[in-house]
Amino acid sequence: MRLTELSAAELAKAIRNGETTSKDVTAAFINRIEQKNKGLNAFVSKEFDLALKAAGEYDKIPAGNSKRSSPLFGVPIALKDNMCEQGTKVTCCSKILENFIAPYDAAVVEKLKEAGMPILGKSNMDEFAMGSSTENSVYGPSLNPWDKQRIPGGSSGGSAVAVAAGLAPVALGSDTGGSIRQPASCCGVVGLKPTYGRVSRYGLVAFASSLDQIGPFARNIEDTAALLRVIAGYDPKDSTSIKEEVPDYSAFLNKSIKGMKIAIPKEYLGRGGLAPDVSGSIKSAIEIYQKLGAEFGEVSLPHTEYCLATYYIIATAEASSNLARYDGVHYGYRNKEAKTLSEMYSSTRAEGFGDEVKRRIMLGTYVLSAGYYDAYYLKAQKVRTLIKRDFDNVFKNYDCLLTPTAPTPAFKLGEKIADPIQMYLSDIFTISVNLAGVPGISIQGGFSKEKLPIGIQLIGKPFKEGELFKLAYAYEQAALWTKFRPPETV
Ligand code: GLN
Repeated sequence: MRLTELSAAELAKAIRNGETTSKDVTAAFINRIEQKNKGLNAFVSKEFDLALKAAGEYDKIPAGNSKRSSPLFGVPIALKDNMCEQGTKVTCCSKILENFIAPYDAAVVEKLKEAGMPILGKSNMDEFAMGSSTENSVYGPSLNPWDKQRIPGGSSGGSAVAVAAGLAPVALGSDTGGSIRQPASCCGVVGLKPTYGRVSRYGLVAFASSLDQIGPFARNIEDTAALLRVIAGYDPKDSTSIKEEVPDYSAFLNKSIKGMKIAIPKEYLGRGGLAPDVSGSIKSAIEIYQKLGAEFGEVSLPHTEYCLATYYIIATAEASSNLARYDGVHYGYRNKEAKTLSEMYSSTRAEGFGDEVKRRIMLGTYVLSAGYYDAYYLKAQKVRTLIKRDFDNVFKNYDCLLTPTAPTPAFKLGEKIADPIQMYLSDIFTISVNLAGVPGISIQGGFSKEKLPIGIQLIGKPFKEGELFKLAYAYEQAALWTKFRPPETV
């Protein structure tokens, strides 16, 4: 078997046992990226020299040194292009940050370095993480390895593709309204959005700060759990990160789920636009879980119909404020022909941002403006509290919720790009999780008639990622299709 086909845990074990080295593993992935990336556009910047140098240094750390005890020691990783890694380019796949070099390491990057994980490069994404298809990237879309006519999901599409196609064993993404889970669903891999505050956002380029959260992509639950352990934890540099102990998530795997209670929210399954194959995958998941001894009940999340509107008010309001800093002065692109300061600001922003980002800035500025603040932003904040309460009520009686991750399998490139509302509807099942601040995981739930992966989502209580891993692992072991990989398409 090729090194690039092994799971991250298997690679770590082989490195630990001296059967291979971090450098050999890193070189194997670099080789695969060289062969396959042209056809997939998963990586937008390659950091091969840095990765090999880091791997070589990790290999020199003697056996028995505590650094080697990290669960993914020596295993390389891909980073979404919105996380700062000192001395390397971070562009958020936007013209406005072309050639921007990060002056410091994000908290997660520091943790990856402490854990001995070489960084292969930055992965493709929708500009500033706004989108569901990676078609808003200045570098062009990533392609879905299951069918290259289709989108890989977004905004963390490049990370999902890299993991699905074996260009990286694991990757990091960010999720503001579904940007880890929806691409994981489209590409047939595992993607987790942790509880808000579980992982530090220090050094993540902000989109909507009260919703953003960094999380892992992997090919199986064991690797996802190991990577969350590496990146989670309190960070004094992020005042929204929480002082809550990080458990050994691997201890939750391989446990009985007998008697666990799973809720099915009726508002998520009754709605139009849900592909029959997707509801079919929920039905088969219920059967599998029942065989494993879980109990089901139907529940109501009565404010579900307001989620999309609430999200697009709060997320755009925060984005308009966060993106005000890109003015051509501090970083990135500047229009040099402008004659006055204000002309320089406006032409830099007009040329530097793409259409979707401009749409969000305009929407966000509008909902925050003096005459409309109470009617839109303030009201959305109140509705957000009601949405959160819907989840609190369910969790009084249930361990988790089971829903589809996305209403359809991956759609065709170009199919929704001209219609923002259609694109926004791709996240109909994921955004509520960010609004409530709770954790959600997408796992491979089967295949459509066109042989495209379909994700199912488990939503858990705050800081109970371990319970999600327990449930997801039991399902993964029981369902055959979780082992399928994309065909060698390129
Ligand atoms: N697709 C959603 C949006 O466009 C979510 C993006 C994300 O989670 N970063 O806002």
